[in-house]
Formats: sequence, structure tokens, C-alpha cells
Amino acid sequence: MLTIRQYGDPVLKQVTKDVEEIDGSVAKLVEDMLETMYAAPGVGLAANQVGVQRRLFVYDIGNGPEVVINPRITETSGEWAFEEGCLSVPGLSWTIVRPNKVHLVGLDLDGSELSIDAEEYQGRVFQHEVDHLDGTLLIERLDEDQRRQALQALRARVLAR
Ligand code: ZN
Repeated sequence: MLTIRQYGDPVLKQVTKDVEEIDGSVAKLVEDMLETMYAAPGVGLAANQVGVQRRLFVYDIGNGPEVVINPRITETSGEWAFEEGCLSVPGLSWTIVRPNKVHLVGLDLDGSELSIDAEEYQGRVFQHEVDHLDGTLLIERLDEDQRRQALQALRARVLAR
């Protein structure tokens, strides 16, 4: 089981590097990340959330475990408001407006190309995880009021440690 890095950990702000070779170490990482995600429990987990600077994420939105390696969102459209949380910012959630539909490309564990049209929940998970891999937390997607409240809550949490 891997440790999920929490808000304030610098690894969450770093942009991950593309996976150049999908070898046994990637397969093992994916397996461990899925186990960690299910135990949390969560619906998505990006590699840098477990301290690994590689561009991949795992997710399960109810249809079984999936992985996307070197994911990129190539198109977005529409708008959708959804209450979003994050395993790296546990216990807090906010209604965030993001594009509704996205087109995601990447690779699966066999190195085959993925090309997925997603909307609503799946689209949201993709945007959230790709954000992580770009070093962006959901805090940065909040509006000004939400962000002020979020930072207060997070500061109080750090002081309480
Ligand atoms: Zn997250």
C-alpha cells in the first residue's frame, strides 16, 4: 500500500514526466495505486499523489479498474457543476464548474492508444486527474470565496497537527 501525499506536499505541485517505457515497474505501480485507491476509498488516483513523478492515473467509476498512461485532454466543451473532493485534501469538497465533455487520449498498459469521449462524472474524473499530473490541485479551480474558505480550513488543519 502506498501513502497518499497530502495538501502541502511539494510533489503535488510538480508536473509529472511522460512514461517512456511501459515495463514491469509501471505495471507494479498501477497495481499498487489501484489497491491504494480502493482502500482510501476513492474513484481516481494520480501517480504524483503517491509521490511518483510519472504521467499516469488510475480510476474506477463503477465499471472496473482502468489506467491511462500519458493522458492528455485534447478537447473540452460545455459546463457542468459538480461537488468535487480529493484524496490529497480529505474531508473537504466544493461545487466546481468545469467543462462537461472532454476528449482524452493516452495509452493503456499494453501501450495501445486510448481515445475516450467522456462527460459528466467520467469527464470530471479525467479533468481532476490530468490536473494532478500537471501539478494542479482542485483548490486552484475554486472561485475566490471558496478559495478563501478553503485556505482557512487548511491552515486551521495544519495548526491543529
Ligand atoms: Zn485529487
